[in-house]
Amino acid sequence: MFIVQVASECAPVAKVGGLGDVVYGLSRELEIRGNSVELILPKYDCMRYDHIWGLQITYQDLWVPWYGGAIHCSVWFGFVHGRKCFFIEPHSSDNFFNRGGFYGYNDEPMRWAFFSKAALEFLYKSGKRPDIIHCHDWQTGMLPVMLFETYQHIGMHSCRVCYTIHNFKHQGQAGGNVLTATGLNRPDYFYAPERLRDPSHPSAINFMKAGIVYSNFVTTVSPRHAWEARFTDQGYGLGHSLHIHQGKFGGVLNGIDYDVWNPETDPYIPSTFSAETLDKKYANKDALRERLLLRKDFKPIVAFIGRLDPQKGIEQIRHSLYWCINNGAQFVLLGSSPSAEINNMFWGIKRQMNDNQDSHLEIGFNEELSHLIYAGADMIIVPSMFEPCGLTQMIGLRYGTVPVVREVGGLADTVFDRDYSDRPVEERNGYVYKHATNQGIESALHRAVGLWYAYPDEFRKLVANGMKQDLSWNNPGQHYVNIYNLIRHK
Ligand code: ADP
Repeated sequence: MFIVQVASECAPVAKVGGLGDVVYGLSRELEIRGNSVELILPKYDCMRYDHIWGLQITYQDLWVPWYGGAIHCSVWFGFVHGRKCFFIEPHSSDNFFNRGGFYGYNDEPMRWAFFSKAALEFLYKSGKRPDIIHCHDWQTGMLPVMLFETYQHIGMHSCRVCYTIHNFKHQGQAGGNVLTATGLNRPDYFYAPERLRDPSHPSAINFMKAGIVYSNFVTTVSPRHAWEARFTDQGYGLGHSLHIHQGKFGGVLNGIDYDVWNPETDPYIPSTFSAETLDKKYANKDALRERLLLRKDFKPIVAFIGRLDPQKGIEQIRHSLYWCINNGAQFVLLGSSPSAEINNMFWGIKRQMNDNQDSHLEIGFNEELSHLIYAGADMIIVPSMFEPCGLTQMIGLRYGTVPVVREVGGLADTVFDRDYSDRPVEERNGYVYKHATNQGIESALHRAVGLWYAYPDEFRKLVANGMKQDLSWNNPGQHYVNIYNLIRHK
């Protein structure tokens, strides 16, 4: 099968969060299974160019129709750790992708509508006819609309679209100018409630809804979240559209890339280890303490890694920090936020904790350090308000770091409470709590830290259970191949 992934992120060249990991990991798995896989990304100025091999222009003059005229683009090709990636570089005064960052600009819908159009135009002009175009998140939601309303009729009739939603909160609302720009010239038709009209703003179109309505299959990143999106407020207004399209909607749990996240071979950690050589994990704990200037003491290290977004449970993260240092644990945070207010709040805590040898806050994005924290910590907290899948608890499990998570989305599908789960004992791998409150996470942390001190052998069993869980792309890879086959023959 020939599969093209179109996305705004791909690890490690352009990664903001889990989306980047998923796009890379899934592509790799599909290739291992014998498919031909290519990726299309924007050519950002702020990419990690040191992770792209053989970057060169492969398609010099791509003219992408835009507002009745056309924007001149070049398409670059390079390998990202073996993956074949095309990077679209527009030459226009809009300067869509040369802004020093990935997201957060005033013209977001326009940037991504343009990127989706350019990706299709590139496929069309270069004669590529993938069996499957796999689009991700709101940024590429307009692609299937353009494919099935326009490009299908001029030759791209064999392509099918799989659309994966990684985060329902960001849906891409825009005005009718997007339709004009992309040449979708019948506003009354596209604004119809069964097509693109935003569920709460009748004067807006909604990119994510477009993806749901027009794609051949829609997934989100865990079975629990698929249910939540349909039946609770976590669909952020799209529950009705999902209900109408329920026959082509499902949840597929993400995997993690076992080459990148492998404690037995990880080049970023000083002491590689496995479930059989667990003692070697603790050299990483020492190294982590040394690097972050934490005191060496007989205490567990509790970590948080992630975007400092309200989604992640900012208040519970803050509370956990204070709880840990007051209850015999050390606390390490690695995270950053595009919001100055949230960043400043954590900078404030960092200054306040400056002399505290039981905590460290690293505010920023640091892939290398994240590996050392996963390997060196004893527990990792994920107190999310909502969590479509969540990768940090999965990476934690792989590195023998016990997750303490809220029972929501993919967290509920991957972490099973040691004391209360109805799973067999050997499948229980962490601690889970229900309510998004400080008391909620405190009770779970209390049990986790308590076990660490009182029953170290039991704690190790929990670690071992997590380490032997299969969180690789093997199962999800098969699910996606099944989905592709299903829609290919329709
Ligand atoms: P989301 O996609 O909501 O950001 P996930 O848990 O699905 O959350 O994925 C987060 C990914 O990003 C993980 O691979 C995590 O290690 C990584 N990550 C998040 N914040 C940072 C950071 N500040 N430094 C390094 N890696 C980070």
